[in-house]
Amino acid sequence: MLDRLRGDIASGTLDETGVDLTLNGLPEAIDRELRRALGYSLRPVINATGVILHTNLGRAPLADFALDHVREAASTYSNLEFDVASGERGKRDVHVDRLFQKLIETAAQDGIQPRPHTTSTIVVNNNAAAVLIALNTLGEGGEVIVSRGELVEIGGSFRIPDVMGKSGAVLREVGTTNRTRISDYERAINERTRLLLRVHRSNFAIVGFTEQPSLAELVALGRERGIPVMEDLGSGALFDLRAVGVNSEPGPIESLREGVDVVTYSGDKLLGGPQAGIISGRRELVARIRSNPLFRALRVDKLTYAALEATLLAYIKQNHDSIPSLRMMRVPVEQIECRARAVIAQVGGSLTLEVIEGESLIGGGSAPGATLATKLLAVSSESSSAGLIAERLRTFDPPVIARVEDGRVLLDLRTVFPEQDEAIVRALRTIPA
Ligand SMILES: *Cc1c(COP(=O)(O)O)cnc(C)c1O
Repeated sequence: MLDRLRGDIASGTLDETGVDLTLNGLPEAIDRELRRALGYSLRPVINATGVILHTNLGRAPLADFALDHVREAASTYSNLEFDVASGERGKRDVHVDRLFQKLIETAAQDGIQPRPHTTSTIVVNNNAAAVLIALNTLGEGGEVIVSRGELVEIGGSFRIPDVMGKSGAVLREVGTTNRTRISDYERAINERTRLLLRVHRSNFAIVGFTEQPSLAELVALGRERGIPVMEDLGSGALFDLRAVGVNSEPGPIESLREGVDVVTYSGDKLLGGPQAGIISGRRELVARIRSNPLFRALRVDKLTYAALEATLLAYIKQNHDSIPSLRMMRVPVEQIECRARAVIAQVGGSLTLEVIEGESLIGGGSAPGATLATKLLAVSSESSSAGLIAERLRTFDPPVIARVEDGRVLLDLRTVFPEQDEAIVRALRTIPA
């Protein structure tokens, strides 16, 4: 700070009063600079966007008990790869494989058997890694058939044709953008075909004159020709989204029940856990993927296993509301409205605040139509533009991230933890009317 001040004096940028002012402010300036330099860069923000699984804001927030388990498992030694009973080397997979198996088995009790005893699950760094290692294991040196309507780009340079290239498998496109029939797959099968791939349209929809074979048709074709079927689900909900009024999201359990051989999905999307890529499917295929040398490069650490194990246990105990992102999906609109009105009452002042109808987005690779009715807190002011208000909210500590639409700032309390409402009030109070 002194160097900077000397520089400013030497270059004549500061006059005498300027020097005095700067000198007086020096202790605070040093304090601020030290706090900034020694503070964390990765820090909490308040997500008032209404996008529940917001990739830029870290996707699924973890439940407290998941964090407790992370702390417990990671602050000391653990049995990560050690079989305590035999005293011998164990496998890190066992900690979550048993729970996935249980979830798949439990689901089987209310329907057709999805071959629970032959299904197993492994975990890698994220779903992109899961797709890569699965394609490399099952498709390398051969052809993988995909519909032209499913050549998805997820964002951040994850594009199915590119991942396919890196996996060493040859992409065999079939059908057209809007219509692909089972006969298209049938005709494309040859002696080099290794896999039939279905990719979830995670961030777009094809509407109008469209056709896509059902999973059952793909599975039947795969069986007939002895070719495995893999589905990249992207999100992979372990609970029935129809309970919150969202229809179109397929889950890994449903897909396995349909007879799909291997499914890949994310840990931190609809599942509500830590970042991870999960591969569930027929035991012998999953075992082949597990023995790929890439697994060692893509595997996850004890922190992830701990957070994932805790999250899965909440599903097994049917304790869905203990998982923050699921709780946010299930919170009643009346409750959101009530909180918004309470915030308005507390802010006071002369900002224009009103409650309006709106939609929250599930996000995180669920279909673009996966929305939930909500009530939004709309903010506007005589003196500041919406952009300026949003900026002001972002400079609050913790930063409040909102949406700007039609010249208004919109806050959706669905994705705000109730204990953060008070911070929203304080943040709004900093905005000039
Ligand atoms: C999100 C998504 C991915 C990538 O998953 P990450 O966990 O972000 O790596 C891959 N495929 C589909 C269909 C997705 O929706």
